[in-house]
Amino acid sequence: MPHTPIQFAVLFLSIFAHLHGEEVAVSANDRPNIICIMADDLGYGDVGCYGATEIKTPNIDRLAAEGRRFTSGYCSASTCTPTRYSFLTGVYAFRQKGTGVAPPNSPALIQPGTATVASVLKEAGYKTVVIGKWHLGLGGKDGPDWNGLLKPGPLDIGFDHAFLLPTTNDRVPQVFVRDDRVLNLDPQDPLWVGDKKPSEDHPTGLSHRHTLKMDWSHGHNATIHNGISRIGFYTGGNKARFRDEDLSDRWVQDAKEWMTENRKQPFFMFFASHAIHVPRVVHERFQGASKLGPRGDAILELDWSVGELMKAVEELGLKEKTLIVFCSDNGPVLDDGYVDEAIEKLGKHDPSGPFRGGKYNVFEGGTRTPFIASWPGRIPVGESTDIISTIDLPATFAAIANAKVPEMAFGDSVNLHGALLGEADATGRPHLVTQDNGQAGNFGFRVGKWKLMRLDSERATNVELRLSPTKLPKFQLFDLEQDPEERHNVIDQHADVAETMRMELEAIIKQSK
Ligand code: CA
Repeated sequence: MPHTPIQFAVLFLSIFAHLHGEEVAVSANDRPNIICIMADDLGYGDVGCYGATEIKTPNIDRLAAEGRRFTSGYCSASTCTPTRYSFLTGVYAFRQKGTGVAPPNSPALIQPGTATVASVLKEAGYKTVVIGKWHLGLGGKDGPDWNGLLKPGPLDIGFDHAFLLPTTNDRVPQVFVRDDRVLNLDPQDPLWVGDKKPSEDHPTGLSHRHTLKMDWSHGHNATIHNGISRIGFYTGGNKARFRDEDLSDRWVQDAKEWMTENRKQPFFMFFASHAIHVPRVVHERFQGASKLGPRGDAILELDWSVGELMKAVEELGLKEKTLIVFCSDNGPVLDDGYVDEAIEKLGKHDPSGPFRGGKYNVFEGGTRTPFIASWPGRIPVGESTDIISTIDLPATFAAIANAKVPEMAFGDSVNLHGALLGEADATGRPHLVTQDNGQAGNFGFRVGKWKLMRLDSERATNVELRLSPTKLPKFQLFDLEQDPEERHNVIDQHADVAETMRMELEAIIKQSK
């Protein structure tokens, strides 16, 4: 049957759009608000809807029950900073030097002018906010000016508003950053942050260990604040300091206020929870609430935060206008520097679920994490085995928001809006590279059921959720269908598969961004 001119134009446009990866996912007046809730150090098996039986997470479970639960959802790295870098830029962190775990005085790792998920959505008319843990550095090449303007920072790469923990809470300092300044900083009591002891009598976790309310197990023994010693040193800024116990409450409150103010236009919120990262010091009402110790209590607090955000969206009448994605920045770890009974009280709980490994390594447990997408009325309820990663969210959110992605931007981010929204015939990624902290050249490379592991360091840590390093071959191959736990290296039986994958991985690594 011959096409009418209009049909032909539509056909042509759809082919053209497909070729250029600019498929329009939703019409302009149907664009949803987008909330990305990123948990910290949360493992695949840490929540009920992914198999946990020893702890209850009713809110995260409800989000999954109302949406789409991915069983091959990943973060791009197995530590905090590189996953966050890739989530914002759509570029693998291994392409950019210095994107491993950022120290307290790290300069901004993402330079102004870089396209980010926030800048692209802002350009398309979204209001944008980041609330929670930043850990991507602040300031110019000399690092943050803690007593002045913290620029460049999130406001320079696309966020309209920021309410942040500037680093991560086992590192100094314990202050909030609102937009581009430390909140409540008294100029008479300037904040100093450094990596050397500021004076002989400066109390630390070594000299004043007997005063600590949570003892350290390794590292984490420098400046003490709130009875907890940290990595790094700081003095001053006393009025600006927060209690660890109040982090989640404060961020939930700020998120609710910001959503209320911005409910009339489409908005994008990056809610970067600190739970369940160390130090696991939750609000008093959650202390002892789980039987798993502080790590379990932190899961309950995280679940509460998710529930509060869901409730706020409902109360604002935005439930069917809001896409919520829930993910994690890396897999689980037990003893990560503090004596908090994470191992002793673990019992039958299995933080990495059916997988091996966790934070700091490239076994599946390091990067395969809970990954849920909910948009009631739009995303069909169900499960998906499609491969999707946090690095795909920039291109995917841009498509869903009908936003234009600048040429050359989001180079490693695949537009998976069909997979995320549960559309028929949609597929996930054909392949996925994962990395650890990025110092040693350790990679996971998944293609379908195959997983190639390349360990340039020939060792990995936290393989059995204990931090001592394990010596391993440089290359291993696993069949994830037969062996999801990655116990049986089949590289000798499938040398041809391994060799093809080794070359493909090498080619991807060598591509410039
Ligand atoms: Ca993390």
